[in-house]
Amino acid sequence: MFMTIAQQLKTADRPLISVEFFSPTTDAGQKAFDRAAQALTGLKTDFVSVTCGAGGSAAGPTLEICRQLAGLNYRSIMPHCTCVGMSRTDLEILSDAIVGQGIQHIMALRGDPPRGESTFRPVPDGFRYAAQLVAFLRDRHPGLCIGVAGYPEKHPEADSLDEDIRHLKEKVDAGADLITTQLFLDTQVYFDFVDRCRSAGITVPVLPGLLPVTSLQQIKRMQTFCDFHVPEKLQHDLQAVQDNPAKAERIGLYWVMEQISELVEGGSPGIHLYLLNRAQTVFYPELFACLSRVRGKKANG
Ligand SMILES: Cc1cc2nc3c(=O)[nH]c(=O)nc-3n(C[C@H](O)[C@H](O)[C@H](O)COP(=O)(O)OP(=O)(O)OC[C@H]3O[C@@H](n4cnc5c(N)ncnc54)[C@H](O)[C@@H]3O)c2cc1C
Repeated sequence: MFMTIAQQLKTADRPLISVEFFSPTTDAGQKAFDRAAQALTGLKTDFVSVTCGAGGSAAGPTLEICRQLAGLNYRSIMPHCTCVGMSRTDLEILSDAIVGQGIQHIMALRGDPPRGESTFRPVPDGFRYAAQLVAFLRDRHPGLCIGVAGYPEKHPEADSLDEDIRHLKEKVDAGADLITTQLFLDTQVYFDFVDRCRSAGITVPVLPGLLPVTSLQQIKRMQTFCDFHVPEKLQHDLQAVQDNPAKAERIGLYWVMEQISELVEGGSPGIHLYLLNRAQTVFYPELFACLSRVRGKKANG
């Protein structure tokens, strides 16, 4: 029997494992994606998601990437869909094409303002907030499983986490079935966020998004567009190996594996990995081994 990702997150007897791919915008990017998609088949993911618009790509490439992933036998593919540059009519055409391709999941996002602009402006007849996109999708494709973004350390434009969670609840009330979080490096932040969501009346699964960081410079770059804090120990350890990329990568990987253990122990319904289309690092076998232990966790008792 077919089960949506949200249904699986609620009922599986083990944490689900998923990976985000991003749609490439260059030939080199496509090659990196090809290698990553091939290499990560070994992870036996329960589902994968595909970004849209991030880094300048449009919706069309996202669908093409979904097709390529389906060709590699990836199951339960969830394309992202944003409101950037999209009118209601564009979204009708795109969502019909997604559903027409047999895809039953969409990650509904507002998207970021174009580079150089600080305020998000919808196109005429477009949507200003992701909640409106969710309501539109729920109405047009009632059977879709819809994911939305959550920000454990708040979205940069929100005045407070409480306000952001209020808006997150609007997305769920509009029809979202699951929440995937922005990356966080302090695992307690996730558990506190889930508690606050539950107190706010949000009952859908909250899937933690994790990034194995590779350097302090990467972290600083990411902090320019998303709010997350860096635990002192990680900061210190990365600082100490600034001129040794391989050691820094190992520290990032060990950190994320520790986060995975804590999350699974704490009852997280799954682990969603931001691997940035990186095909292989010498350390991936350790990550894969860690994830296979996760897969066997509850099933083995
Ligand atoms: C898991 C994940 C995947 C992502 N994938 C992509 C991707 O593929 N492509 C891409 O371009 N970006 C992606 N992003 C980034 C995302 O598009 C940006 O963070 C964007 O700035 C916000 O999108 P949103 O869907 O959370 O917006 P919204 O939920 O609309 O929120 C945006 C801001 O508006 C506020 N807000 C919401 N409703 C209201 C209201 N009624 N009144 C006042 N304020 C309100 C919120 O508090 C928040 O500060 C992703 C983010 C995450 C966490």
